[in-house]
Amino acid sequence: MSLTLFNTLTKKNEKFVPLKRKVSLYTCGPTVYNYAHIGNLRAYVFTDILKRVLLFNKYPVNHVMNITDVGHLSSDADFGEDKMTKGLKREGLPLSLAGMRKLANKYSKEFKSDLDQLNIILPNEFPEASKYIEQDIEFIKGLEKKGFTYSISDGVYFDTSKLKDYGKLLHKKGKKNKKDEKVEQRIIKTEKRQPEDFALWKFNSKLGWSTPWGKGFPGWHIECSVMASHFFGKQFDIHCGGKEHIPIHHTNEIAQSEAAYGKKPWVKYWLHNEWLVLGKGKKMAKSSSGFVTLQTLQEKGYDSLDFRYFCLGTSYRNPLMFSWEALDGAKAARNKLFDKVLELKSSKHGKDNKKKRNNYLNAFTNNINDDLNTSKALATMWEVVKDDKLDHHDKYLLLLEFDKIFGFNLGSLKKDKVPAKITSLAEKRLAARKEKDWRASDELREKIRKLGWDIGDTEESYELKKK
Ligand code: AMP
Ligand code: ZN
Repeated sequence: MSLTLFNTLTKKNEKFVPLKRKVSLYTCGPTVYNYAHIGNLRAYVFTDILKRVLLFNKYPVNHVMNITDVGHLSSDADFGEDKMTKGLKREGLPLSLAGMRKLANKYSKEFKSDLDQLNIILPNEFPEASKYIEQDIEFIKGLEKKGFTYSISDGVYFDTSKLKDYGKLLHKKGKKNKKDEKVEQRIIKTEKRQPEDFALWKFNSKLGWSTPWGKGFPGWHIECSVMASHFFGKQFDIHCGGKEHIPIHHTNEIAQSEAAYGKKPWVKYWLHNEWLVLGKGKKMAKSSSGFVTLQTLQEKGYDSLDFRYFCLGTSYRNPLMFSWEALDGAKAARNKLFDKVLELKSSKHGKDNKKKRNNYLNAFTNNINDDLNTSKALATMWEVVKDDKLDHHDKYLLLLEFDKIFGFNLGSLKKDKVPAKITSLAEKRLAARKEKDWRASDELREKIRKLGWDIGDTEESYELKKK
């Protein structure tokens, strides 16, 4: 089955046909003013699965993910505090470009380490928005020449009335929810010609770069248009991001890029992930307190890959409801999978059954090629694990093949080497159990647990597993 992807632009599951042999893939990256939370990381696990599925289908991929280190206001609709400024204040850093650089470096490094721990294949390019200011200015000059811009007291704006198909990504122009209306009331009070018009350049007399229009920052949307086109030219294949980007950020990226480059569509496929939520519709967000980071999970004894497994259990187009119980479920399943792989790895090679292997592989491919259906693909994987008639080596080969998508690095799994101290405690506990000294046995289990190991009982002895 050939690869199909749900395209927000057409609202259809479409056969994927790239513009050129090498697929151009752009992901809206993080705004580096704070740690990424696991909601953000869900978005990047989704992009990673997308990239792996493209590679699995033998498409070479050029993947660009930007780092927003300037110009993203707390509201995507051009008002509120600049997020980087918020970060500078929180960390007591100077309100200067040098301060911003320091903040951005700190959180970019943390972000890349998160990606690494989640086995996310790093993008080919990680452009930082602040390094593209010259190109942003050129881009605005181009739009100005074509008559798409006007200036008001707080910045240079894009006139959306000049484009016939403005808002085509949203599919429901004119229908606005209450929250949008409120936002709109505030905007209408400003000097904008249309409420939808958006900033290309925001003035800021204290911080920023000098331009013919005034000192300040590029608008957030322009950064992605400019960086994507820097690497891919005037048109490219796939653009992805969280679903909240549909009405504003991505709609405006399309408007200004199609106006500037004169090519339609600017991007062929738009893919959007649903959110990780804490309750119905309750998005995990950096702006609200109590967000959970990868580090929080590790401190609670989870492996980063438990979170990766957790993400795979739900299609990227469905909300992912976070709870500790659900994460425990993912952890148990991930551990079971790893144990199984280690067992299969060391088992003997029986009769090779390529036909049966191919049947499973086809079922798996059909699932992932159906708009990246990872939950169904996981179900196929468990079918393989439980198939008593399938030779162990066939199972092992299939699991390694599936892992090209799942990304658990199953091929390099090794049995945990148990430190001597843990073995000695475990032996003491075994002796205590033989003496039926349950209190000592429990205390020793707790000591072992605190040192990062789980101990389980077998008929004659014990089993140790790294937590
Ligand atoms: P930010 O760093 O806020 O610019 O967000 C980076 C990426 O994370 C964007 O693509 C967002 O759409 C995505 N994102 C933010 N919150 C969530 C969430 N709760 N669930 C899934 N994706 C999210
Ligand atoms: Zn973007």
